[in-house]
Amino acid sequence: MNEQIKPMYQLFQISNQDFFMFDTYANKIKRISKNCFEYLYKFSKETTNFFEKAESVDDIEFKEFYKESLKQGLFKKFSIEKLQHPMTELLEDVLDANIESINLQVTQNCNLRCDYCPYTGNYYNNRKHSNKRMSFELAKKGIDFLYNHSMNCDVVNVAFYGGEPLLEFELIKRCVKYAREKFISKKVVFNLTTNGVLLTDEIMKFFSDNEILLTISLDGPKNIHDKSRVTANGTGSFELIYEKLCYFKEKYLEYFNQNVSFNSVSAQDDGVIDIDLFFTEDPLFEFSKVNTTFYSTNYLSDEKAFDKQADKFRQHMEFEKYKCFLHKMKRVKALPTRIQLNSFNEVIRTAKQLQDFTGIPKVFHPSGPCVPGRKKLFMNIDGNFYPCERIDETSPCSVIGNIEEGLSLDQCKKLLNVGKITEEKCKSCWAIAHCKLCFVQADNGGELCAKNRLDHCGNLQDTIIDTFKNICVLAKSGYHFEEDI
Ligand code: SF4
Ligand code: SF4
Repeated sequence: MNEQIKPMYQLFQISNQDFFMFDTYANKIKRISKNCFEYLYKFSKETTNFFEKAESVDDIEFKEFYKESLKQGLFKKFSIEKLQHPMTELLEDVLDANIESINLQVTQNCNLRCDYCPYTGNYYNNRKHSNKRMSFELAKKGIDFLYNHSMNCDVVNVAFYGGEPLLEFELIKRCVKYAREKFISKKVVFNLTTNGVLLTDEIMKFFSDNEILLTISLDGPKNIHDKSRVTANGTGSFELIYEKLCYFKEKYLEYFNQNVSFNSVSAQDDGVIDIDLFFTEDPLFEFSKVNTTFYSTNYLSDEKAFDKQADKFRQHMEFEKYKCFLHKMKRVKALPTRIQLNSFNEVIRTAKQLQDFTGIPKVFHPSGPCVPGRKKLFMNIDGNFYPCERIDETSPCSVIGNIEEGLSLDQCKKLLNVGKITEEKCKSCWAIAHCKLCFVQADNGGELCAKNRLDHCGNLQDTIIDTFKNICVLAKSGYHFEEDI
């Protein structure tokens, strides 16, 4: 057994009186006294054997704390022996019969030229908009691939992505018909992400008849939306969408309320409150899910592109999160707004992970990567497969196969086990069970690069500690997580 001279823990405090430790192997947060905090802090800075030191401490309070912690399964002596994702051995079977979805890139063209879009060439290393489109023959092969590899799934998902997928509405109609005929004994869910500009009555009727789950990209009120989401000649697109949506909501009320959601991508330095009010108060969105996301920093060619806005935006978001906390702690009556609730979800997800996952085994892997190909298989107009659509299509390391040869098990295993490239660091990282990095952050435009991956660790660890602090603040204030978990 690979015994360590130090356990793995991280210390943090939420005030001058509130001290905590996070024990990595037990995946537990424990409240501790200032006195014990100081001992643990001192031991963490020394290179000597922690266990010998801890056992030789005379202080009664620390002795009690240490004894109790050992009983609770904290301060384990073992270390992770090997990095291997738990799905590695099962991957072949999983990809043979458990693929849940295929996302078809029906076109690489778009009718808008949004400022922050990864494909406009403004800030990102990625493909550029092009006139390439998917043929029905290729789309059919993609659907057949899903059919042949989803035997164990009761429900499958066919998604349409672009560019702007509505440029290929005729193709989409044929795909929906074909998939319905093919998956005769399974439920097929269809998804489509659009900027909404090309929506017509005919399209909405088709979507409503076929219960297509529609995600519409809308950043906020006109002044905010039009800053980034512009046509090729630079004019804003808000007015091309909004009135139409109000009309469609009235005409297809049930479909709209149940199947249409919105995605707001933002980095406006001072627009958060306006965005929040817009989505919270406008009856158009009353029953719809509204997701708020931040500009992606993956594959940025200009690292500083969004920095200025990002800082101000984060400050606003923290403030909004705090207001939501006050509501959760029953200090204010006003219901949380959309952005507040969205930002609170991360706290709930982490609290749930702490509750459900009670220990790290000796063979383990950082928790970031998905199982490539299983839930979000993306096929582009050339028939290449990728783990999802949020990748750089021009980078060879993001390709996991193609429609002619199928998925490459070796490549899927490599992306699933991306932690291998930083194995020694990850094995001794206190945040390993809460890591969120997948291969995307390691991709240097062609290869998986250890430096690229490790460049993200500091920020990620800070974010994890912030979330832990939020959980502790809420718990201290009497909030019952069971209500939301
Ligand atoms: S971003 Fe990474 S973890 Fe998320 S789906 Fe894509 S490949 Fe998987
Ligand atoms: S934060 Fe960095 S060192 Fe820690 S597990 Fe993730 S990739 Fe590895």
